[in-house]
Amino acid sequence: MVKKLLMGNEAFAQAALEAGVNVVAGYPGTPSSELVETVAKLHAAGSAHDVYVEWSTNEAMALEVTAAASYAGARALFTCKNVGMNVASDPLMSLNYVGVNGGMVLFVADDPGPISSQTEQDTRRYAAFAKVPVLDPATPDQGFAMMKAAFELSERHHTPVIVRPTTRINHASTYFEVQEETHGRALPQEPFEGGPKYVILPVRAYAAHKEVNERLDRMASVDFVSDPQFNVFNPMFEYVPDDLVEPKLGILCGGVSTAYAREALAMLQQRASAAGMQLPAYRFMQVGTPYPFPKDLVSVFMQGLTDVLVIEEQDSFLEDQLNALSGERNVILNVYGKLTGHALTRGENSVDDCLERLAQFLGVYEESVASSFQRYVAPESEPLPVRPPTLCAGCPHRGSFYALKKALGKREAVLCGDIGCYTLGSAAPLKAVETCLCMGAGITMAQGFSVVKPGAKCIGIVGDSTFFASGLPGLTNAVYNQHDITVVVLDNATTAMTGAQPHPGTGITLMGPKHEGISIPGIFEACGFKKVLTANPLDLEASVAAAKEAIDFEGPSALVFVSPCIQLTKPGKPVTIDPDICTGCKKCITSIGCPGIAFSADAAGPKSGSRGQAYVDPSLCNGCTLCTQVCPFHAIKKEVCDD
Ligand code: SF4
Ligand code: SF4
Repeated sequence: MVKKLLMGNEAFAQAALEAGVNVVAGYPGTPSSELVETVAKLHAAGSAHDVYVEWSTNEAMALEVTAAASYAGARALFTCKNVGMNVASDPLMSLNYVGVNGGMVLFVADDPGPISSQTEQDTRRYAAFAKVPVLDPATPDQGFAMMKAAFELSERHHTPVIVRPTTRINHASTYFEVQEETHGRALPQEPFEGGPKYVILPVRAYAAHKEVNERLDRMASVDFVSDPQFNVFNPMFEYVPDDLVEPKLGILCGGVSTAYAREALAMLQQRASAAGMQLPAYRFMQVGTPYPFPKDLVSVFMQGLTDVLVIEEQDSFLEDQLNALSGERNVILNVYGKLTGHALTRGENSVDDCLERLAQFLGVYEESVASSFQRYVAPESEPLPVRPPTLCAGCPHRGSFYALKKALGKREAVLCGDIGCYTLGSAAPLKAVETCLCMGAGITMAQGFSVVKPGAKCIGIVGDSTFFASGLPGLTNAVYNQHDITVVVLDNATTAMTGAQPHPGTGITLMGPKHEGISIPGIFEACGFKKVLTANPLDLEASVAAAKEAIDFEGPSALVFVSPCIQLTKPGKPVTIDPDICTGCKKCITSIGCPGIAFSADAAGPKSGSRGQAYVDPSLCNGCTLCTQVCPFHAIKKEVCDD
């Protein structure tokens, strides 16, 4: 064993490897991505033996690959982010009825805030909807233990099991004692025997639904209550200052809010003591196994209590369960939380917020103590400028959007975007993305608009990774129904938004040498697109011409902009602006909005007079030359020699 400082996601990967996982498959998405990358890294380094790992084309593919591995007796791990569950939900719903053989864990990372997602979707709700158990860690170390336990639980009940950390647990780091080398579990040698159990016909589904209900009951009333392997995830303790006083107040927590609440309680205790006060008796419980809800354990928690404050992130899942349970067991209990306005109804909790709410709840919010709750107030200063998210300096997408807008001119158009870096094309000055719904929706929404707005040019804009993940059915729909749209693929040779993971177009896998990637133009042609063009978005003239040709085509057409993400390439020499030529017209700023160009109101030159002049920040500019092509006065120069 060695001691290592690991990020939560690295620790989850290590735990799965130590549990003998054989097959790992996922689709990248913040905050989950580092798990798959860690498995791949350890496998490539030769310390993780007997494990297969892949980035699948999308979440449904990943779930199906891992489900089959589990059917065949392997331990399997699926990974995605919260909204990825929507893509994987079709196989998930049936998989739970079919059941699994080898332990199968679904690692689904939730994103309260949200920090990098479309919604604050709560996977505990998904677990209950799909009738799949879920483990909800409060800390990275508890998550490490939960990951191992989840494989055991899965095999015990033949059910997939969800482990659902949230961003702060995925990305927090702490020390772990880990195995230096790991080995996948020995695989069964006998052939796989399929048959009725694996064929989800209605008659089988009816019988399976009973099995699902029964195993959920067993988990809730036995495993999570009395098996030390699992009930350790539902810890309970009491604070009783006077042995004769039974607690009347309870605090029920889930996920990372458990850690916040415990830290807040310790601070509260300290501050109350300093103010000569005493906290009242209270009982504290973490529900680390929120579904199926461990009713018997929570009933023990409820005993003798009159009031409970529920602290959790995202939905009021625990609060709902507690309300239902107190009603079911005829316990008169005041339950406070999101539903009563006593907890945040959206976004992340924090120690500060928990501290104030707990002080109120425990009745120690008096002047003497309250004065020590003052939050840090920053000294008066100039407000910081608002910095909206923007494409990187030198990002080729900037050229693609500029070319599209130029090609459209004043024509009526609808530009339907998608999920990825290029969603940022919605911001000024590009303003080239008008809708963004979910992965793959841009292509098909353009089709809907083309039906209702026949006079408009309808464009579906999609990135290369999303194209493979969810775009392909939209292509066949466009050709089948002959929608007059243009599909624009921004191919930067990576899944940039989530940290530059490979995809089917790159030909790079996590298991071996590069092979020929799948051709995006080839897919369009195979689907029946009659006009398929490619262009380099850093060549604006050629890009505008290609965009015009694609947009003017009647029927489904395609344009693939090909230029690698600047994070993958060596930066070129920065450009410079000649102060003798710059007129201060700001065209370079207002047309493409590269953060590498700024404007100095104080600069003066023969052509600009006192209007000010543009200048390039050489620490940001990578010499992509887009600005040289939009300056009407050729004031921006690129040195020819570029090593
Ligand atoms: S060349 Fe111009 S557009 Fe490209 S990164 Fe530099 S400043 Fe930005
Ligand atoms: S560099 Fe060119 S586009 Fe930018 S302000 Fe000067 S003259 Fe105008």
